[in-house]
Amino acid sequence: MKFLRFETHDKKARYGTPAYGKIRELEGDVFGKFRITEHTFDPEEVRLLPPVTPTKIVAVGLNYKDHAIEMGRELPEEPRLFIKPGTSLIAHGDKIIYPNHMSSHVDYEGELALVIGKEAKHVEEREALDYVLGYTCLNDVTARDLQAKDIQFTRAKGFDTFAPVGPVVETELDPGDLEISTYLNGERKQHSSTRNLLFSVPRLVSFISKVMTLLPGDIVSTGTPAGVGPMKSGDKVEVEIEGIGILTNYVE
Ligand code: MG
Repeated sequence: MKFLRFETHDKKARYGTPAYGKIRELEGDVFGKFRITEHTFDPEEVRLLPPVTPTKIVAVGLNYKDHAIEMGRELPEEPRLFIKPGTSLIAHGDKIIYPNHMSSHVDYEGELALVIGKEAKHVEEREALDYVLGYTCLNDVTARDLQAKDIQFTRAKGFDTFAPVGPVVETELDPGDLEISTYLNGERKQHSSTRNLLFSVPRLVSFISKVMTLLPGDIVSTGTPAGVGPMKSGDKVEVEIEGIGILTNYVE
C-alpha cells in the first residue's frame, strides 16, 4: 500500500492513500493499527507533507561502486554513515533553497530511502526487513564545495530543505532490484538499480541498529549511484524509483 501525509486549509496533518485520482484518509496509526476511511480529498485541495516525521535521517555514503569511482574514492569496507537533520526535510513539491550565502556548488543525489516501522536495536540482517515499514524516494542534496572543504559532512548535507522525501511510502516492495533515475529539467542524469548497492537494505538496517536505536519513522537513505551533478536556481529535479513514484522539487 502507498501512504502519504498531507494537510488542507485547516493545517491538520492527515495520512492518506492514493485511490482513483483521490486521496482516501487513513484513520489511526500507520505504524500500528489503522483503517482506510471513506473520507476522500481532491489532490488539488491538499498540500503534501513529508510522509513521516523522523527523529533522524541516517544516510549512507559511497554505497554504489560507480559513484565511488566517479568521486575518486576507495570502496568502503563498512557502510559510511552520516546524519541529516530533521530540519532538512521537505515534501514533494517543496522548494530546495540554494544556500547562496555559503555555497556555489549544490548537487542532487537521487536515493532509495527506507522508513523504519518499529524500534530496531541490535537487529540481525536476516530479520532486518521486519523492521522496515516501507520505501520512498529521497534527494540527498549536497553542497559539494563544502563537503570538500569541511572534514565533517554536517554542513554540506545539513542545510534546511536539503532532504526532499516522498511523495509516498510504499509498504509492499522488495528493495532488492528497483530501477532508480534522477532527472534534471527532464534530462536523465542518474540511472541504476538498487541491485548495485554495495551494502543491501538488510545489511544497512542491521549495521545502523548496532550503532543507534532506530525508531518508528526514522529514515535511512541508501546512497546514490553515479551521475551526480550540480543544480541551479530555477531547476526542476526529479527522483523516480520503480514501484514508488516520482519525487519532484524545484530549486529556489
Ligand atoms: Mg548521498
